[in-house]
Amino acid sequence: MAQHRFRVEDLKSATDPQWFARGERYFEQGRVSRLRYDQRGVSAVVDGSRNYLVRIDTSDGVLSDSCTCALGQDGYSWCKHAVAVALAWLATDRETTSSPPPPPDPELSAFLEDQDSAWLAEQLLRIADDQPAVLARLQAAAGTHTAVDTARDALYRAITGYTPDPDGWNPGDGGAEWLRQAIDTLDDLVEYGYEAEAAELAADAHALFDKTHEGYEDGHSERLREMGGLDSD
Ligand SMILES: [Zn+2]
Repeated sequence: MAQHRFRVEDLKSATDPQWFARGERYFEQGRVSRLRYDQRGVSAVVDGSRNYLVRIDTSDGVLSDSCTCALGQDGYSWCKHAVAVALAWLATDRETTSSPPPPPDPELSAFLEDQDSAWLAEQLLRIADDQPAVLARLQAAAGTHTAVDTARDALYRAITGYTPDPDGWNPGDGGAEWLRQAIDTLDDLVEYGYEAEAAELAADAHALFDKTHEGYEDGHSERLREMGGLDSD
């Protein structure tokens, strides 16, 4: 097996948080297969909307990746497929597997755990009031069907309000962050059992994105296409 001297923390700091989270989910879902080690790194297949081939190299101590998905072919580093493979690789080596990270703010966590649930509910609803993605997540957790409508509303507004940035990946720019959160809501729907609704919504949203932005494609449209089970061609 090749030597790899990176840790989960290194991978995390090298990746976009949204792709890390998605890659982590892919890894946990067991979508990584055919791991092949060699002197310089590892190759593997990731089962997404179709199969993607990922290659990770640690030559000269530099961690690099490539993937056959649309993002990878555009030269984007650390798509979710590459993250999933890196995590699978780390998991095969007990020595480098780290303990789960502590909560970001232990003092705040302790405070919240001590609070009355009615007070907590009020705080959450107040936050959800002006964040439709949060509202949809809570509704999905509660099992109410309004979750799908809320998610649709948030997604459509984020898509039409989005200004694409063809020159790069600028989180928070041109409504990209808002759109990212709205697309994340689809994952929440899936998590709470609205799989068919989420796929249908993703396909509809992809069509709206395509129409609104006249065929422009980026990481957002790629996610929608994949979640909608649409072909890449
Ligand atoms: Zn990829």
